[in-house]
Parts: sequence; C-alpha cells; structure tokens
Amino acid sequence: MNDTIAVVGGGISGLLLARTLRERGAKVIILEKSRGLGGRLATKRVGGVVFDQGAQYFTAKTPRFAALVEAWRSQGVACAWPEASTHRSIGKPSMNALGKFLAEGLDVKREAKVLSVRRVDKMWDVEVENQPTLRVDQLALTAPVPQSLALLKAGNVELPAEVAVNLASLRYHPCLALLVTLGGASLVPVEGMVFSEGPVRWIADNVKKGISPAGAAAVTVHLSPAFAAEHYAKSELELFPMIEPLIAPWLGAPVVNVALHRWKFSEPITVFPEPCVWLDELGLGFAGDAFGGARVEGAALSGWALADKMGA
Ligand SMILES: Cc1cc2nc3c(=O)[nH]c(=O)nc-3n(C[C@H](O)[C@H](O)[C@H](O)COP(=O)(O)OP(=O)(O)OC[C@H]3O[C@@H](n4cnc5c(N)ncnc54)[C@H](O)[C@@H]3O)c2cc1C
Repeated sequence: MNDTIAVVGGGISGLLLARTLRERGAKVIILEKSRGLGGRLATKRVGGVVFDQGAQYFTAKTPRFAALVEAWRSQGVACAWPEASTHRSIGKPSMNALGKFLAEGLDVKREAKVLSVRRVDKMWDVEVENQPTLRVDQLALTAPVPQSLALLKAGNVELPAEVAVNLASLRYHPCLALLVTLGGASLVPVEGMVFSEGPVRWIADNVKKGISPAGAAAVTVHLSPAFAAEHYAKSELELFPMIEPLIAPWLGAPVVNVALHRWKFSEPITVFPEPCVWLDELGLGFAGDAFGGARVEGAALSGWALADKMGA
C-alpha cells in the first residue's frame, strides 16, 4: 500500500487499526486530541494516587483478542485483576499503559485535535487545531460516532443517504466518574462491586487492584447512565453529597479529596450491525466500539476489521 492514511483517534480501535495498516506498508499518522493515548482506557493521577477512570478491565471472548491479551500479559503490559473470580485483565501498571504500548513505533500526533475533514481532489484535507492542514489519501474516523460526524459536517462532507441515517442513529450513554481519595484503607471488595440499581453502577479500589500505591485508598465510583444523564453538568461538590450516603458502607476511612471526570460518550447504547464502515468511493472508514461491540474487545475487533477493508 502506498496510500497515506490519517487515523483520527488514539483509542484502542485507532491504535490497532494504525498498527495493522503500518505492518502492511501503509504510511499512517494518528491524530489524537488528548495528551495521553488509549482513549477510554484512561488513568488519572491525583496527588500521589492513581485511578483508572474509564474502562476498569477487559475480557476476551474471541481467539484473536484472547491471543493479543495473552501477548500483552507476557510482554508485561497487562495482568489479571487480583483475586477476581471472573477472567478479567487489566493494564499494567494501569489501563493507559496499553495505549502507550500500542503507540510505540507509530507516527502519533498528540494534542492534535481535528476540527474538520474535507474532500478535496479525491483526497482528504484534515484540519488540525493550531497545526498545518494535512492532506492524505484515506481517512479513518475512530472517535465516538457523533464526534466523527461533526468533523464531516464541519467539512461539508455528505455521506451516502443510508449510511448517514444509520450512523446518525447511534447514541451513547454518558457516565460520571467520581475519583475519591481516602485517608486509609477502604472496605471495597478486591474485585470491585457492581450495583444492580440506583445512581451508583460500579465501585473499585485502585490500591487493591494493584495500580495505586498502598496508603491512601483511591476509589473509582461510576455513576449509572440514567443518573449521569440527569446530573451531567453538576460539579463534584454537588454530586458527592448525593452519592456519599450510598457508598458510605464501603468507604471505611475519611474522604480526603473528590475529583470528577465526565464521559459524554461512555458506551454505545446500540451497536452497528457491521464491525466497521468502509466507503471505498470516498476513501473513508469508521471504527470503534459502536461497530465491534460496546467493550474494549469490540473496539479492538472493529479496528482490525477496518484495517482489512482499507488494506484490501
Ligand atoms: C466509564 C467507562 C467504563 C468502562 N468500563 C469498561 C469495562 O470495564 N470493560 C470494557 O471492556 N469496556 C469498558 N468501557 C468501554 C471501553 O472503554 C470502550 O469500549 C473502548 O475503550 C472504546 O475504544 P475506541 O477506540 O472505540 O474509542 P475511544 O477509546 O473513545 O477512542 C477514541 C479517541 O478519539 C479521540 N478523539 C475524539 N475526537 C477527536 C478529535 N476531534 N481529534 C482527535 N482525536 C479525537 C479521543 O480523545 C479518543 O482518544 C468503559 C468505558 C467507560 C467510559
């Protein structure tokens, strides 16, 4: 392949797509708006403590992803969730290690926010904030679909009508992540805890998980989609008093700090019937968890699926 390809998004789908295309000889550049890589495989440091604030773990149901996870484990960038009864893997030392690892050797521009994509002379002009516009042969959009469609709209690109309608119908749940630092050990079970109802969906102790140094506990609390949708704009100061009574039995030590991360596009509500979309006549593809399935594994499978189409 001699084509130049821009991949918008350095989450797992974009990184695996770019790696695969590069292995096949394509010239690929990844544009990622954040400083870190991995997208929703995200880790945040607050003071001396460490939180996984997005995906908490991943599982592998397909042989291809299972082989990748096995390779990550033997390369020391993934391991088992300590003492978890189900077969869960986590990034090592934390989730964002996987993004860093997958980006090694690739041409990645971080803090490169794409503002619009425009079709010019059968090529793509990719407008990047504070940087020169990039001209490439092919384009892959791996951000959550509403964000990808906004880039096309900003560049006045019209998609074939049926694809446009199908993509525009994809919606995502929001999530609010409260990152709670405690003055001592928490009472959260080692394997974390799912709440079946109410505003809290999940709680996990990042010290017991093995990613935050021992001492102050670092507890990730994910709030439910319905609660997050209703209270999305609230600050941590407003949210925590609403949530504290619900999680108090598992805190077990005084609260030292609460930080908040808002995920506007946390997980797709519906998944596209195909693992990716490739529009050959436009040299344009879409990948991500809204295509391959609403988990880390689904996003990985989607990146690979698009690589097969683009490399064909
Ligand atoms: C709170 C939460 C909990 C989760 N828990 C789990 C779990 O336990 N297990 C599991 O398997 N999955 C979980 N998931 C889902 C999992 O994280 C995702 O399915 C997967 O990481 C999605 O990968 P992706 O590559 O499709 O998208 P992303 O990781 O979202 O990657 C897209 C990238 O595009 C970038 N981007 C967006 N717009 C632009 C732009 N204009 N210019 C440049 N870059 C741009 C973004 O910054 C991002 O890095 C969770 C997600 C969240 C948010």
